Amino acid sequence: MSSGYRYQSQLRWTFRILGLGALSAAITMIIRFVRQMSATSFDAPEPNVLLMFGGIGLLFVALVFLNFGFGGAAARYAAGEGLPIVKDGLADLGIALDTPPPDGTKSCPTCNMSNDADARFCDSCGAAFPK
Ligand SMILES: [Zn+2]
Repeated sequence: MSSGYRYQSQLRWTFRILGLGALSAAITMIIRFVRQMSATSFDAPEPNVLLMFGGIGLLFVALVFLNFGFGGAAARYAAGEGLPIVKDGLADLGIALDTPPPDGTKSCPTCNMSNDADARFCDSCGAAFPK
């Protein structure tokens, strides 16, 4: 693997976290707007249109971040170098699937994450592999 592999992994995680954060913020804003729209009491505040536009805008930002965040995993899958994206995502979330590592991989001694056989650093926790 290239020396930038560990950095790419961290960057991917940053985009995933930013994407999920933006996504939840967008959903919160849209739900709040819908609740304001459906409020029946006369003293309810006016629906804030900014919430709707802001929510939709954030939704697009979230999709862009998530595309960056998960694009790396999709590319690795397309190249046949990694596990399917769902397994990869579950493994990144700490959910170990009960499958032996495929040929050409090795498990991290620190976190047990499966990595490419020629990896120098763990894709998950960044620990250096012994040579
Ligand atoms: Zn590890």
